[in-house]
Amino acid sequence: MSEEVLRRCKKCLLRDIDKNEYFESLKQAIEAIPADEKTEPEEYERRLSACTECDRLSEGMCTVCGCFVEYRAAKSKEYCPDVHRKW
Ligand code: SF4
Repeated sequence: MSEEVLRRCKKCLLRDIDKNEYFESLKQAIEAIPADEKTEPEEYERRLSACTECDRLSEGMCTVCGCFVEYRAAKSKEYCPDVHRKW
């Protein structure tokens, strides 16, 4: 994991964070997931497709668990947190 990714502030409110900077940080966090923990590209797209069809998705965030779905879906061992799992 790069030093830049590790410097993400965990104490900031979203309103205090530059939106572009935040999303860039999220993108870097996804890229920093070790290859052996990463979801295969085809499965990643399948997962995100399910999220975009789901009424629990709000502005990139899953309202069931509060995670950013692009990050959660990028980790192969993660799963949809809904009672009726969609992936
Ligand atoms: S409930 Fe599952 S499918 Fe729906 S947004 Fe959350 S992770 Fe995605």
